[in-house]
Amino acid sequence: AHLKRITWLAEHDPLTGCLNRRTWYEQLVQTSGVISDQVNLAVAICDIDFFKKINDTYGHLCGDEALKHFVSVLQEKLEGLGVLGRWGGEEFAIFMVLPSPPSEPIEPLEGACTVLETMRGSIQDAPITWEAQIVHMTMSVGTALYNRADSVGAVLARADEGVYQAKESGRNKVVAIAYLAKT
Ligand code: GH3
Ligand code: MG
Ligand code: MG
Repeated sequence: AHLKRITWLAEHDPLTGCLNRRTWYEQLVQTSGVISDQVNLAVAICDIDFFKKINDTYGHLCGDEALKHFVSVLQEKLEGLGVLGRWGGEEFAIFMVLPSPPSEPIEPLEGACTVLETMRGSIQDAPITWEAQIVHMTMSVGTALYNRADSVGAVLARADEGVYQAKESGRNKVVAIAYLAKT
């Protein structure tokens, strides 16, 4: 039981209980190595908007509660669809394996966006209550598809670029960055 507990602690974020960055990343690398041509692997980075303001306005303890709440909402929406990890601070990373049979009419990246849009809406619509005050949150999300021609690092960089574009264009949105093959 002690070993089990130590293993859990080594793999998870102590505040929110989701996977820590190292474990999430290892699982992503492992998944990228075993997926078949019949599925797509989507990666997303979710960054809470103006999170510093929550700390500054309501205090760090409220910020911690907001992070825990954020993770529980995402985990609930993600159930069975993908894996969530704490990327760092108020940034969380998700990977999802999306089935994409040839008859699938929706582009794989659109499939990822649909799930992420649902999550974005849930975060927006589920504020926390802190000392009788309602504290709202939104998130900006960048997403990209893993491409066998490039690396896990490259797909993460594209997802990060999506976050940057979402922030630049007003926040509280999902931005997908398509893979452009080098010519
Ligand atoms: P933006 O919309 O541009 O992302 O703005 P932001 O305020 O979310 O981003 P910024 O990087 O300025 O601030 C992130 C804040 O997140 C600063 C840091 O103190 C806070 N933070 C990071 N980890 C934790 C944590 O575990 N608990 C609490 N309470 N705050 C945290
Ligand atoms: Mg950030
Ligand atoms: Mg932020």
